[in-house]
Amino acid sequence: MNNPAVISMDIGGTNLRLALVLSDGEVIVRLQSPCRIGEGRMQFLENICMEYEKIRQFAENAKIRIVAVGAGVPGLIDNSGEILSSVNLKPLNGFNLKEWLSLTFTLPAITLNDANAAAVAEHSHGAGRSFSSLLHLTLGTGVGSGLILDNRLWTGVDGVAAEYGHLTVEPDGRLCQCGNHGCLEQYASSTAITLTAIEKMKSGSVTQLMDIATANLESSDVAKAAYNGDRLALECFEEAGRYLGIAAAGAVNLLNPEAIILGGGVAASFDLLVPAIMKEIKGRAFEIPAARVKLLKGELGDNAGIIGAAATAFCLLSSS
Ligand SMILES: [Zn+2]
Repeated sequence: MNNPAVISMDIGGTNLRLALVLSDGEVIVRLQSPCRIGEGRMQFLENICMEYEKIRQFAENAKIRIVAVGAGVPGLIDNSGEILSSVNLKPLNGFNLKEWLSLTFTLPAITLNDANAAAVAEHSHGAGRSFSSLLHLTLGTGVGSGLILDNRLWTGVDGVAAEYGHLTVEPDGRLCQCGNHGCLEQYASSTAITLTAIEKMKSGSVTQLMDIATANLESSDVAKAAYNGDRLALECFEEAGRYLGIAAAGAVNLLNPEAIILGGGVAASFDLLVPAIMKEIKGRAFEIPAARVKLLKGELGDNAGIIGAAATAFCLLSSS
């Protein structure tokens, strides 16, 4: 009894998830609610307080001791905890969430980029637990990434490293919301896979996807068609895999990592992506690091963010 636990948050542009997580990564309870960031910063923070109180009460009844708060946030966060830039949470730009969490809940607090949190989670409790170096890619609406080197999250001098989703893989390619053209996330995210399918349908290719209105089409529909053997749908995943492989080959040559792990919703179609990714790695990277690197599917699903934020908070406690 009296197990120590972290209240961990995964803050997205649409959903807010809060959970009670033990030091071994076990999620005791998890709540999900609309994030309400569209109603402004104050409403959003009030919402966090309400959800926090529900988890706190659960912990109290279960005799679980809350020792810290952790939060994964989509966007660039500096080492002090200030949110420098978040496309999905614009009202929080310039806000120090870490400080607010610590002062509001009178506990040690950490904040980190949500894709970094996912990398920490897979490294500490998931598919990457036997490796000391890995690149984790979260393939969702966008492409997030986190880099573990020598068992530590690499955040860079300003805290904003490993934005590998914005690596240029097509110099004159699709415009990205970051301002660059041809970023990886424009070719390998769920949004991108859907867009690729729509472009191919417009060019007149026959596909099972024609039964679905373009406005309703999702990457999961493209995946379903691909598993049914639909040629166009298979090509969409081959293309996404090719771009992921080009990016992965660069990481392999630069870092000689033990593993590249794919998480996020698109990773549900991991086996559709693997052949093209491996072909590019083998064709483009040096033989020794290409033979070494393992391409794996993440094990923690959409709990990766909350488990990673909790693991980071436990790490902070053990080092202080
Ligand atoms: Zn970009």
